[in-house]
Amino acid sequence: AAAREVEIRDAPVATADGAEIEVAANVGQPAELEAAKDRGADGIGLYRTEFLFLGREAPPDEDEQYETYLEALGAFPDGRVIVRTLDVGGDKPIPYLDVPEEDNPFLGERGIRRSLGPDSELFETQVRALLRAAADGDGRLSVMFPLVTTVAELDAAIKTVDAVADALAADGIDYAIPELGVMIETPGAVFVASELAERVDFFSVGTNDLTQYVMAAARENETVSAIRDPRQPSVLRAIDRAVEAAHENDAWIGMCGEMAGDPELTELLVGLGLDELSMSAVTVPEVKAAVQSVDADEAVAHASRALEATTSDQVRERIRSRDS
Ligand code: PEP
Ligand code: MG
Repeated sequence: AAAREVEIRDAPVATADGAEIEVAANVGQPAELEAAKDRGADGIGLYRTEFLFLGREAPPDEDEQYETYLEALGAFPDGRVIVRTLDVGGDKPIPYLDVPEEDNPFLGERGIRRSLGPDSELFETQVRALLRAAADGDGRLSVMFPLVTTVAELDAAIKTVDAVADALAADGIDYAIPELGVMIETPGAVFVASELAERVDFFSVGTNDLTQYVMAAARENETVSAIRDPRQPSVLRAIDRAVEAAHENDAWIGMCGEMAGDPELTELLVGLGLDELSMSAVTVPEVKAAVQSVDADEAVAHASRALEATTSDQVRERIRSRDS
């Protein structure tokens, strides 16, 4: 509720000692682009493209997708728009995709696994639309892949991008290769983060899934909600590892899971080294205000204390003591 009282900041913000942190919005529908601008988002940190495919009889064609991506770029001509390729699976049925019913859909054929398998044609069409939009749109388009767990998957996704680029070139159609990124949302991705970072421009930590998989506690299961907490030392240490791997390999790293939108955690996330935070538009003003009150050196010290904590209660205690 307090979010409504906070001043809207249209320009990018920096910490008290001048480290700029991009504060972007997560968008799941074109209608939300306006709200993201109104709340002062610097760009779109996660454009979920599932809406394009849900609630219809057939998938959108290349031109429909191209127009949709141009519209998003047009909304942020001075910012960055990160489009995530289709992230469906057993938890989100789409009739024409023939997604199998699985006992454990979160451990099944989801995200990039489908795009490299049964939905590979859809994936190619989406990549074609994205490469065309990257050439023709205002602003900067970035593209990221969901639920990557292996380096081989990333290599295959990049191979598709290259093949699509070659096909567009052969057809004489304008295209550009956008900045490419990987969502860090599985423990597998964390353990090979260096190799992933060598291959892409950026990471975006999806803490909703990362927390679920690190803590082995399903996203929608209330019985295990206490253990499914991004303040768990295991989750913080996973994020820390991803940040280190990104920066060692000249990639930047953002976060687009719900953790990024909690202003109580902004100092911790800046201290861990996140370069960008993306969240639901409503919390953008609060997080921008929180960034401006952070001292980057103190934040690093705070983050190391949190990383050394043994329990989530200790992490909470260390965060709370910053506020008092
Ligand atoms: C995440 O997993 O944190 C994320 C941002 O993606 P989604 O919530 O769409 O799975
Ligand atoms: Mg996810």
